Formats: sequence, C-alpha cells, structure tokens
Amino acid sequence: MLEVQVKKKFRSFTLDLELSAGNELICLLGPSGAGKTTLLHMVAGLMEPDEGLIRVNNKSYFQKPAGARRGRQLPPYRRRVGYVFQNYALFPHLTVNQNILFGAKGSMDETRQEASYLVNLLRLRGLEQRKVTELSSGQQQRVALARALITRPDILLLDEPFSNLDELIRRKLRLDLLRVHRDFRIPIMMVTHDLEEASTLGEMVAVMDSGRILQVGTREEVFYCPRSRRVARFVGMKNIFDGRVAEVKPEENLLKVAGDKFNVCLPYHPCRVGDRIVFGIRPENISLVRNGAELGKRGENNVLKGRLVEMIPEGPGYRLFLKTTADTYDLEILIPSRIALKHQLTVGKELSVTLRKTALHLLRED
Ligand code: ADP
Ligand code: MG
Repeated sequence: MLEVQVKKKFRSFTLDLELSAGNELICLLGPSGAGKTTLLHMVAGLMEPDEGLIRVNNKSYFQKPAGARRGRQLPPYRRRVGYVFQNYALFPHLTVNQNILFGAKGSMDETRQEASYLVNLLRLRGLEQRKVTELSSGQQQRVALARALITRPDILLLDEPFSNLDELIRRKLRLDLLRVHRDFRIPIMMVTHDLEEASTLGEMVAVMDSGRILQVGTREEVFYCPRSRRVARFVGMKNIFDGRVAEVKPEENLLKVAGDKFNVCLPYHPCRVGDRIVFGIRPENISLVRNGAELGKRGENNVLKGRLVEMIPEGPGYRLFLKTTADTYDLEILIPSRIALKHQLTVGKELSVTLRKTALHLLRED
C-alpha cells in the first residue's frame, strides 16, 4: 500500500500531488520535467518534501503537516524501497551474484536462498559468476531488478528502466516485471515514456504534468476516458474535436453535437444546448464499415465517409489517415492487417467508418 501527499517548491517548479494505491503496478506517464523522478526520489528518501506525508505498507516514511516547523523523515536506508535506475547503476567490477547480494541484510543462508530464487525468477541462471560488464543490456537490467528485490522491499520504484533497450528485449522485460509483481504483491511504481508499455503494464496509470497529477485511474479509465484534452493528447487519443451541443436527450442517453468538422451523437452528459464541448475517440475504436451498410437508427453509429490519404504499417496492423473534410486528414484509425486485407485498402480509396456513440468521449477543456 502506498499513500503520498506531498508539496515541494523549487525556484521555478512546484510539485503538488496526491496519490494512493494498493499493491498495483502504477505507470507514471508525463512529459520530461513533469516531476516523475522527483516523486520517486521522495518515496525513496533521496529528497525531502516541504510538507505532506508518505506512507508505504502502513509505515510512515515522511510526515510534516502544513505549517509545522519540523517533520519526520525516515532515512533512505530505513525504508524498504527497491529502486531501479535508468542506467542500471551496477558495480562493473563485481559478478552478477555479488551485485545481487550487495545491500542484502539478514542471515547468509537466507540471503543466498533469496538470491537463488531471484536468479531463477529473472532468468539469470548460469550467469551468476559473470562480470556484469560481460552481460547484454537486457541481462544487466534483470540483475538490477534482482538487486533491488533482494531486500524484499515493500515497494519497487523504476525510473524509465527499459528506455535504453530495443523493442524485443523491452517486451521480454515487461513480462519479467509482471512475474515479479505477481510473486511479490507489492506496489510497483514505474516511470515510462512509452504508451504501449503503460497500457500493457499499468494496472493503474497516472498522468503527470508540471508537478501535478492530471488524472489517475485504471488503464481503461485513463486511456479510453481521459478527462481533459491534455490527458487525451498525452495518452494518444489522437482524434480530438471541438463542437457545440445541438440537442440534449437524457431519456435516450443522447447528446447531439454539431461538430466543427462533422456532427455526432455522444452518450448523454448534463449540459445545455449551445455549450462548447470537446470530444474524442481512440484510433483503435474506429471501425470500417462496408460501403452502403445500413447501420442502426438515429445515426448513433456516427458513420462518416472519407478518403484514405495515408496507410502506415504499425505493429500487427495499419494506421490509417482518413480525410473527411477539406483538411489534410481528420481521423487516425488503427486496424488489424486482416481487416485491411478484407477491405482491400489502398491509398486513395473511399471508405466509410463508424465512430460508435459508446466509444466517443466527452473531454474537459483545460
Ligand atoms: P521528470 O523526471 O518528470 O522528467 P524531474 O522530476 O526530473 O522531471 O524534474 C521536475 C522539475 O523539478 C524540473 O523542472 C527540475 O528542474 C526540477 N528539479 C528537480 N530537482 C531539483 C532540485 N534539486 N533543485 C531544483 N530544481 C529541481
Ligand atoms: Mg525523470
């Protein structure tokens, strides 16, 4: 369990945030300079907040009420925190085993047993006596993980741990981390720039900017129902539009919106005719429809016609750019390759797509 409520003022930057979690894996997303590393440093005890509280597993790490002259700051070595740095920070002259055992407390037998368990868990069997400089970067990062876990910490912090690694290794390390999380059942807080990483790993996702948390919630909430335009941009919603409320029909769970680009139906939300609103839909939530297909009544499926202006392979599918107005393009759509094949897509083709009412979300203007 983790509870953070801190304030810290630097000359040109203020951190002011609250975050609480059980034993989830939390991904911290946010632009560079948002305060992510500072937050991890505070939990680890490497930096003292001006005021607030930090509790991990019901143990107070920091406490200083607003206005109090003195606080209580537990020194780093008395906190049960595992920390994995971006650049691993391993000891180059030591072996894998020596690196893992470094910082271990408790009896020698117990520690060796623990190290052996971690060597297995993190796929390091056979490499124990190697110098860490003789390892690949993925292996080094697994040693760093093992070293952070040898003390059986109450929380694990990772600061962009996989950002220097190539895609294939990153994917494997993500699975390693999920295995660690299942075995240890402790909160894991991980900073990442990678949206895919945050959405595969983050049971909880916290989006940070300018020292604040803009939104925190389950991955579904944050990725599919971002609260504001800023969060929506940050989590890759891509299709974000402005419009004006044209009709409000709570009894039909319906909001008709005259968009600046096109008209759509959204799920009901309390507002008044004429209000300016912002709405959005994720690229993977837009589907292609067969030309001329009759879709539902009252236009709730928001069928739009457009021309395919660009088609870029992405992962196991394609990212499509569809032009429905005079602009270069208006919609970004992600589809699996088999759908692209089925529709025989080529650049220049006329397409119909549906922005299903339930997949459209109302956003708050920042
Ligand atoms: P992130 O990890 O999200 O990129 P950081 O937490 O490293 O961001 O930094 C957030 C802001 O806090 C930056 O503007 C940085 O200049 C400022 N900052 C961090 N540590 C200090 C410090 N010790 N003194 C002054 N400013 C700091
Ligand atoms: Mg950082």
